[in-house]
Amino acid sequence: MDTKITLSEKEMPTKWYNILPDLPEPLPAVLHPGTGNPVSPDDLAPLFPMALIMQEFSPESYIEIPEEVQQIYKMWRPAPLIRAYRLEKALGTPAHIYYKYEGVSPAGSHKVNTSIPQAYYNKQEGINRIATETGAGQWGSALALGCQYFDIELKVYMVKISYEQKPYRRIMMETWGAECIPSPSNQTNAGRAVLENDPDCTGSLGIAISEAVEDAATRDDTHYSLGSVLNHVLLHQTIIGEEAMLQMEKADAYPDVVIGCVGGGSNFGGIAIPFIRDKIKNGKKTKIIAVEPAACPTLTKGPYEYDFGDVAGMTPLLKMYTLGHTFVPPPVHAGGLRYHGMSPLVCHLYKLGLVEARAVHQLGTFEAALQFARTEGIIPAPEPSHAIRVTIDEALKCKETGEKKNILLALSGHGHFDLASYEAYMSGKLQDYAYPEDLVKEALTHLPKVD
Ligand SMILES: *Cc1c(COP(=O)(O)O)cnc(C)c1O
Repeated sequence: MDTKITLSEKEMPTKWYNILPDLPEPLPAVLHPGTGNPVSPDDLAPLFPMALIMQEFSPESYIEIPEEVQQIYKMWRPAPLIRAYRLEKALGTPAHIYYKYEGVSPAGSHKVNTSIPQAYYNKQEGINRIATETGAGQWGSALALGCQYFDIELKVYMVKISYEQKPYRRIMMETWGAECIPSPSNQTNAGRAVLENDPDCTGSLGIAISEAVEDAATRDDTHYSLGSVLNHVLLHQTIIGEEAMLQMEKADAYPDVVIGCVGGGSNFGGIAIPFIRDKIKNGKKTKIIAVEPAACPTLTKGPYEYDFGDVAGMTPLLKMYTLGHTFVPPPVHAGGLRYHGMSPLVCHLYKLGLVEARAVHQLGTFEAALQFARTEGIIPAPEPSHAIRVTIDEALKCKETGEKKNILLALSGHGHFDLASYEAYMSGKLQDYAYPEDLVKEALTHLPKVD
């Protein structure tokens, strides 16, 4: 049996899979924050190119990947599927663990799967400037590369604490030609309002989104771009699952369990959605698990409500499991996946029972990351290490029961820029924490009223 199951470039899927028309119940509407009515494509036109807006609501099951995007994808795709022989052996499990490794991209994560088509469609519609936000910098760097390929100017609002503590992602963005400033900044009304209240504010993803949306909404020449959460982002990420499906066929194995971490839901949706198609259409019983941090337990603890995507309440209202748009995870949390909400599509699939969710703690997550690094070699990013935790737990269950399950894991990126978190863990400085119940309770008092 091969360790690495690869596809040739000719075998790379040429279409993204859109699950919307196959859903057993339609996705709840996205609402306009002013009127409370469903948004129309025109409402979104100041922010996104029409091609992406059409994808957001598309009734087509398959959408052709543009030739130019395919050409760029092929610089590192198809991404390898790797059998974790050494991890299996260390665990003494009869389970077979396969991981789909997205860290082979130039930006080191799956996010380029969407940053490249997003830059492409913007360029097609004559847009030469984009504004976006980034947390730890993975999305900002992925979009910087996408914009570089298509000669688009990019401004990135980066959460201030990361900007100060993690200079390397900023330097990557600058290397690929983008401008990156700390958020909250004094360059937008949203940023100035936050700073007036709290001059030392270290920022949050919700604030940075408000700044980037305002930048794009107030300039005719600028669009906005989001690296997760929205349907078109998950659509682009289905290349991961479509490839993995072909690779599992080559390995003559079908996954019993598919596991991915969820921040906004894009890498998880990317690997899981083609297998969910098999559940809906072919009655497959695959267990599909979304893993989140106990510090930001959106699916496992949040109510299913309409909420804003950002702190300032400028985005459309999305029906999702949410901890409240003003929620910021406790500062001891080092593992990413900090967004207060979740992809409405992932939430809907969860609501329908097609996927399950688990929350895992920080120390167990880093313990799993270290075990993975010391057996498989790849140093995983903290985000997919949450999924590694559950993968190891599932494999250990198989050891008890003797079941020979096939487990498929989305390894969304490498952790080469997250070594400070590894150091904190190895030197015993990383703490665990209980579910931040008081923070969530407070944030949920700010949920918008929707009839
Ligand atoms: C951004 C990121 C995530 C979380 O985002 P999703 O949209 O939930 O995938 C996970 N892993 C890596 C490596 C990331 O860069």
